[in-house]
Amino acid sequence: MERYINEIRQIVGDGEKLAYVRSFGCQLNISDGEKIKGMLKNAGYSFTDDENKADIIILNTCAVRENAEDRVFGIVGSMKKLKEIKPSLIIGISGCMTAQEHIAEKIKKSYPQVDFVVGTSALSSMPKLLLDCLNGQKFGADIAEYEDFSEEAEQVRESGFKASVPIMFGCNNFCTYCIVPYVRGRERSRRQEDIVSEVKNLVHNGYKEIMLLGQNVNSYGNDSGRKNAFPELLRELNNIEGDFIIRFMSSHPKDASKELIDTIFECDKVAKHLHLPLQSGSSDVLNRMNRRYTAEKYLETVDYIRSKDSQFSLTTDLIVGFPNESDEDFQATLDIIKRVKFDNIYSFIYSKRSGTKAAEMTDFTSDEVKGQRMRKLLEFQREISSENYRRFIGRKMRVLVDDVSKKRDGFVSGKSNEFIIVEFEGDKSLIGQFVDVEIIDSMNWAVSGRMI
Ligand code: SF4
Repeated sequence: MERYINEIRQIVGDGEKLAYVRSFGCQLNISDGEKIKGMLKNAGYSFTDDENKADIIILNTCAVRENAEDRVFGIVGSMKKLKEIKPSLIIGISGCMTAQEHIAEKIKKSYPQVDFVVGTSALSSMPKLLLDCLNGQKFGADIAEYEDFSEEAEQVRESGFKASVPIMFGCNNFCTYCIVPYVRGRERSRRQEDIVSEVKNLVHNGYKEIMLLGQNVNSYGNDSGRKNAFPELLRELNNIEGDFIIRFMSSHPKDASKELIDTIFECDKVAKHLHLPLQSGSSDVLNRMNRRYTAEKYLETVDYIRSKDSQFSLTTDLIVGFPNESDEDFQATLDIIKRVKFDNIYSFIYSKRSGTKAAEMTDFTSDEVKGQRMRKLLEFQREISSENYRRFIGRKMRVLVDDVSKKRDGFVSGKSNEFIIVEFEGDKSLIGQFVDVEIIDSMNWAVSGRMI
C-alpha cells in the first residue's frame, strides 16, 4: 500500500489537489471514511467540503436501507455533469453498497462517470485502484474480502475531541432484516494491545470521548475463543490515565452479560448508559427477526441493571411494522417501553432490504397501519422521555460540550455521562471540554441547566 501511496504523491504533488469524501450510514462507515481521508492525505491530497472544487470524489456508501442506495445512485447520476466540466475528476465509490457484486456491476454498466469501486473489506486496495486510474485505466473494481485496513493506517478524524475506535469488524448474527453480515463479512476482532495503544495515543492527544465500535461489541474476542474479552478490554482502557469517557455501541442483548454490566458499574471512565437494541417487544417477532433472545430475557437484563441503579439510563432501537407484526405484537412493544422507561428510542418503520431473509416474508400489514403505529410509538415515547427527564432536575451532570445550541442563541449543547442532551448558557470556547452543570429544567428531548 505504501508504494502506491508514494507513487500517487509523485503524480498529484503536495496538497494542491483537493479531495471530497462523503460517508453515509453508521459510525463504523464514518470511521472507514476517516481512514480513507488518512490515505488520501498521505497520498498528497488536501480536503474540500465543496464537491465542485474537488479533483477526487469518494462516496463511502451504506447499504442498510434500500432508499439510501437509491439516494447514492441519484448523487452519482448528478456527478456526470461535474465530470463533463472537469474530465480529470476521479470518482470512486466505496462502502457497504459496493461490497455487493450486483451493485458493483450496475455501477460499471450504467455510471461511466465512476472510475473505481472498492468494497468495505478491500479498502487497502484503494491506493492501487486510484493509481491505476491516474495512469489512465478506465474502470477498476475490488470487492474481495481481505484483512481489514492495516493497523498503521492513518485517520483524518472529523472531531478533535471525540474519536471512534473500531474494535471489531463484521457480524455473525444474521438478523433476518439486516444486510450487514453479507456486506461486512464474519466477525474479526482487533488485537487488544492495538486498541489500547490507539486509545492511549488519542487520550495523549487530548481526545475526551472514546467510542468503541463494532456491530456487536459484546462478542469482541469470540473469534479467537476468548470469553468475556469485552469487559476485560473495558477494564484495561479504564486504567489509562487521563480525563476521558468511554462509550461503546452496539451491544446485542443476547450477549449483554452480567460481567459486562458489573464492569460498567466498576469502571469510573465507562459511561453510565447502555444502548441495548430491543427491536420489538414481542418474542414472536423477535424470533422471526432471528434476534435469539425473548422479551422476557431482555427484561431480565434490564432488571439486573436496574437492581444496581434504578435510575440507570437505557436507550434502544425499535423496528415498527416488521412483516406481519400484529396489533398484539405492537402492543407488546408499547408495554415493554412503558416498563423499561427508555430515555430515548431510535425507531424505524421496517423497510424491505433485498438479499435478506425478511425480504422474502409475505407481509399483510399495510403501510397505513405501520405509519399509524409509528406515530403512536413516538407520541408514547415523548411522554415517557418528558417524565423521565424530570428525574435529573436538581442533579449535577458532567457534560462534554460538543456544539453551540441549534435552538437557542447564547447556549451550548453537549452529552452527559448518561447520554442525555444538556443545554446551558455558554460560548463556543467550551466546545470539547467537560463542564459540570446543575440541571434546572427538562424537556422531552433534553435537559437544561447552569454551569457550576
Ligand atoms: S447484530 Fe443483527 S442487526 Fe446488528 S449488524 Fe448483526 S445482523 Fe445486523
